[in-house]
Amino acid sequence: MNRYLLIVGLLVVSFHLTAQTFQEGNSYYDKNKWVTFVPGNMPLVISVPHGGLINLDSVPDRTCPDAVTVIDGHTQDLAKAIDSVFRRDYHFHPSIVFCNLRRLKVDMNREIELGTCGYDPMRIPWMQWHNWVDTALAMAVKQYGQSVYIDLHAQGHPEQRLELGYLLTPKELEESFKGENDTLYTSKASIKNLIAYHKGKYTLKELLTGPAAFGTWMVESGFPSVPSKQDPFAYANQKYFNGGYNTARYARYPNVFGWQIETNYKGVRDTPDAYYRFAEAFVKNIMRYIATYTTIDVKKMGK
Ligand SMILES: [Zn+2]
Repeated sequence: MNRYLLIVGLLVVSFHLTAQTFQEGNSYYDKNKWVTFVPGNMPLVISVPHGGLINLDSVPDRTCPDAVTVIDGHTQDLAKAIDSVFRRDYHFHPSIVFCNLRRLKVDMNREIELGTCGYDPMRIPWMQWHNWVDTALAMAVKQYGQSVYIDLHAQGHPEQRLELGYLLTPKELEESFKGENDTLYTSKASIKNLIAYHKGKYTLKELLTGPAAFGTWMVESGFPSVPSKQDPFAYANQKYFNGGYNTARYARYPNVFGWQIETNYKGVRDTPDAYYRFAEAFVKNIMRYIATYTTIDVKKMGK
């Protein structure tokens, strides 16, 4: 595709997006169904960048330097299970943005050049996906004042635990746990807005490894997690993902609080029963998080 056609194409996409209004309960797709947006009616936005299975023979595989092409298996199933549990147990559900294309063709958790490996036609689904994440967060903050954002992934590391990515490396998590460099790591963390909002009421250490940290609650619900009170940081010889492009871009939007969740396989993604057990724990604890740390009025959800 030449540059002129690409620019026209992108203008059409962006005009279409700004002109569109979204109705909770509907699903929205681009014309090829490469990207799906399910608008919710609560201020929780979940993005699922690496669960897509559509392989396009006409699109070259991503082979540029630093390209990662592994699929996050069953993460779409996990997000759908979360949606089902919300609809079953509450009268509301989150906004979810799916990428249906294989990561071999486009990576939504990288900046656009690396995400497309420079192949221009993949810029259109990349922009569409990001535009919908952006739109979902803007709608949530406009209606509810604040929103939670989760970028949902899968990891194949030996340690069977959820890796919660707050944009801090294992060494930074360890130092934070020991009370070192608190100001610096608070400023780097994906939940820095939340800490700033509470004006010193909660420290980073408490929010990552305290008795009322999200990770601590997930461990108590049966899902080992790092960081948490029980497992505060990954050791130097352990693999751990600390959050990528999406977490850095969206979790620190004004009035947005968020992090990345890298799910392990065993007991989370290995059976449909496991998807639902994980979803039930996630829903319970994210609702507890919203009630504890945000100003969001639960009674207004679903409206
Ligand atoms: Zn991933």
